[in-house]
Amino acid sequence: MRLIRFGDAGHERPGVLTADGRRLDVGTFGEDWNESFFGSDGPARLEAWLRAQGDTCPVVDDDVRLGPCVARPSKIVCIGMNYTDHARETGATPPTEPVLFFKSTTSLCGPFDDIVVPVGSVKTDWEVELAVVIGARASRVSEEDALEHVAGYALHNDLSERQWQLERGGQWVKGKSFDTFAPLGPYLATRDEIPDPQALRLWLTVNGERMQDGTTGDMIFGVATLVSYVSQCMTLLPGDVISTGTPAGVGLGMKPPRYLKGGDVVELGVEGLGSARQRVVAAK
Ligand code: ZN
Repeated sequence: MRLIRFGDAGHERPGVLTADGRRLDVGTFGEDWNESFFGSDGPARLEAWLRAQGDTCPVVDDDVRLGPCVARPSKIVCIGMNYTDHARETGATPPTEPVLFFKSTTSLCGPFDDIVVPVGSVKTDWEVELAVVIGARASRVSEEDALEHVAGYALHNDLSERQWQLERGGQWVKGKSFDTFAPLGPYLATRDEIPDPQALRLWLTVNGERMQDGTTGDMIFGVATLVSYVSQCMTLLPGDVISTGTPAGVGLGMKPPRYLKGGDVVELGVEGLGSARQRVVAAK
């Protein structure tokens, strides 16, 4: 099942994307895709509800905006340097334990929203990533049990302002948290749709030029390891997002580095999770 949220920013409504590509308004189901939904077996309840009520759901026009595919979570945990080729291109040694940082939940936006380059920024960068959405509260879970705590997966662009991230003192969160720096979606694919999260191609282009082209098979720490690891140091709540790191090909790693500017168009995708497109605009 594929979950979407649609409508104006801050007023999104819940929907589903059908197998034949239609967007259904499931507002009468009465829930948003949030902690209480995921934490109460929501996807299974929704699936049963759809079997009975799906025919009565209005179809949403294709030109209606898509919002982030989950309602604002309690946290967005990101994994740094989780692909060897990306660690190397930034001059870092590949980590022996997962590198964790946070991204502000206010950075979430829709998959086709504009990316706003922060005031004064000259180093706004892209990162295509597989994002994991937690389905069941996870505290000190084992790797064997970890995927049972996953609701599903989504496409994420982990935008980064490299000066704020790297040149202005710790921590990375400063460069990761600007508004519009976390386009999430187009949809959340429930776990059953992605039988092997370590076998997904992921790619990103800027103005049509291929910048990133990798596979989640190259992650240093896979999804099960990451969910288990993060849950050792914090409780993951239903709806929380873990973004699992980016492969090589970010602007920071190029010689010379290349960064986003107003007018650029970023397109990205993960196999099985759809694609997204964001126009870059300067802050007003
Ligand atoms: Zn990242």
